Amino acid sequence: MPTLPQRVVPRAVADPDVRLSYAVDASVTRTASPTDFEVVRARDVDDVVAVLEHAQATRTPVVPQGARTSRAGGARASEGCIVLNVEALDAIHDVDELEGYAVVGPGVVNADLKRAAASAGLFYGPDPASWETCTIGGNVATNAGGLCCVKYGVTSDWVKALQVALPGGELMRTGHRTAKGVAGYDLTGLFVGSEGTLGVVTEAVLRLEPAPDAALTALAVFDSLDAAVAGIVALRRDAHRPCLLEIIDRSSVLAIQSFGDFGFPDDCAAVLLVQSDRPGHVAEDVARYAALLASAGAVDVAVADDAQESEALLAGRRVMSTAFEAMGARLAEDVCVPIGRLADFVRGVEAIAERRSVLIPVSGHAGDGNLHPSIVHDPSDADSVDRAWQAFGDVMELGLSVGGTITGEHGVGSVKLPWLGLELGPAELARQRRLKAVFDPLEIMNPGKVFAVEA
Ligand SMILES: Cc1cc2nc3c(=O)[nH]c(=O)nc-3n(C[C@H](O)[C@H](O)[C@H](O)COP(=O)(O)OP(=O)(O)OC[C@H]3O[C@@H](n4cnc5c(N)ncnc54)[C@H](O)[C@@H]3O)c2cc1C
Repeated sequence: MPTLPQRVVPRAVADPDVRLSYAVDASVTRTASPTDFEVVRARDVDDVVAVLEHAQATRTPVVPQGARTSRAGGARASEGCIVLNVEALDAIHDVDELEGYAVVGPGVVNADLKRAAASAGLFYGPDPASWETCTIGGNVATNAGGLCCVKYGVTSDWVKALQVALPGGELMRTGHRTAKGVAGYDLTGLFVGSEGTLGVVTEAVLRLEPAPDAALTALAVFDSLDAAVAGIVALRRDAHRPCLLEIIDRSSVLAIQSFGDFGFPDDCAAVLLVQSDRPGHVAEDVARYAALLASAGAVDVAVADDAQESEALLAGRRVMSTAFEAMGARLAEDVCVPIGRLADFVRGVEAIAERRSVLIPVSGHAGDGNLHPSIVHDPSDADSVDRAWQAFGDVMELGLSVGGTITGEHGVGSVKLPWLGLELGPAELARQRRLKAVFDPLEIMNPGKVFAVEA
C-alpha cells in the first residue's frame, strides 16, 4: 500500500469494501479495479496540501476525486495511487451579489450552488444532468456542460478564478475576481478541463448572473430525422436562443417507452424538447418555438402552460439514463459535431449499430451538436462486449470525420485516451504533454488519464 503523511492517516478509508467503492466512477471500462491503493477523504485544504507534498516526495500517483460521476473513467483509481477525495470541502464561502460571484470549495454539489445563488436572486448556469450529485471541482476539471449550454455555455464560461494545489503542495491562484482582467496568461482556462492531471482544485470563484424566469417547455414529435434537424437549425437561428434544446432519437424513445409510458409515439423518428426562460417573454418564446418546429415538419407539438406541465414533458428525458441502464451495460459517447452535420452523424451511428450488431440509442444536447450515443451491450457476453468497444471507436471516428470532437463535455479520462492522438495529432499531443510537465514534472497527477503513461 502507498504510505500516507501522518496528518491524513485518520482520513484514510480503512474498510476494504468501502475503499473499493472509491476505485470506480460512473464509466464502464475493461480494466479491473486496482488492489493496492489508499483513499484519503480530505477535510480541508491543508489535508490536500499534505497529500500532494508527500506524493511528490515519494513519487506516488494521486487521483483527485469528487462525486465519481465521471462518464470517462477520469476518477478511477490506479494501481499504487492515493485517491484524494475532496467532497467534504463543500463550503460556500461567499455569494457576492454586487460583484456577481460565488466563492466555493471543490466539494460543493452543483445543485446546492444553484440553490444558494437562487436564494440571492442570482443564477449559476452550468447544469450537468448529474447536477444533484456532481461537484464543482469535478465540473471544473471536466469543463462540464449540461442541458442549458445552448444558451449559457459550459463551465469555463463561468469560472473567474481558481485556487489549485500543485504536486509538491504549493497553492497557486489563477484568474481575477474583477469584472475584467488580462494580466498574464489565462491559466484558469488551462486548469478548466484538465481532468485532475495538473493539480487539485481547492477553491473556485464562479460568475453569477441575474436569475432568469422559470422555464416553460415545448415538445415536438418528428417522423423524419431531417425535419428534426431543420427544427434545430430554425431554433438556433431564432433571435432569442432557447435555454434547452434536446433530441431523443427513435431508439431512445423506444428505450424510454419500454421503461414506462411517457406518452411518446413508438413510430416517430425523433423528439425535440425546447425551453425558454427569457425574463418576461417565456410564454411568447415557447409559442414561437412551437410554430418554428411545426414549420420545420413536426407532426405534433405540445406546449406547457405552467411549471407542472413543463416537468411532465421533460419526464421521459429525465428517466432516459435509467431506461438505458435497465437494458444492459452502457458505453457513453460524448461526440460534439457541427449542427449542420447532425443528421449525417445520427445516420452514421445507425449504420455502425447495424454493422456491429449493437443497440445505440442517440440523444443529447442537440442545440450544441453534443450527442450521447449509448452503446448498450451484455457485459456477461465477451462477444457483445467486443462489438460494443469496436462501435465505441467507430462512433468517435465518425464524429471526427464530420468535423467534430471525441468529447464535448465528459472529458477524455481513461476510456477515450486511445483516440486523443487521432484528434490532436502527434505534434499537439507532444506539446500538451510538455505543458503538463511544467506543473507535474514527475507525472504523479492522475496518470493514465488523458495521456497514456509513458514506459
Ligand atoms: C447520470 C449522469 C448524467 C451526466 N450528465 C452530464 C451532463 O449533462 N453534462 C456533463 O458535462 N457531464 C455529465 N455527466 C458526467 C459527470 O457528472 C461530470 O463529468 C461531472 O463534472 C463530474 O463531477 P464529479 O464531482 O462526479 O467528478 P469525478 O467524477 O469525481 O471526477 C471527474 C474528473 O475530475 C477530476 N476531479 C474531480 N475533482 C477534482 C478537483 N477538485 N481537482 C482536480 N480534479 C478533480 C477527477 O480526477 C476526474 O478526472 C453525467 C454523469 C452521469 C452519471
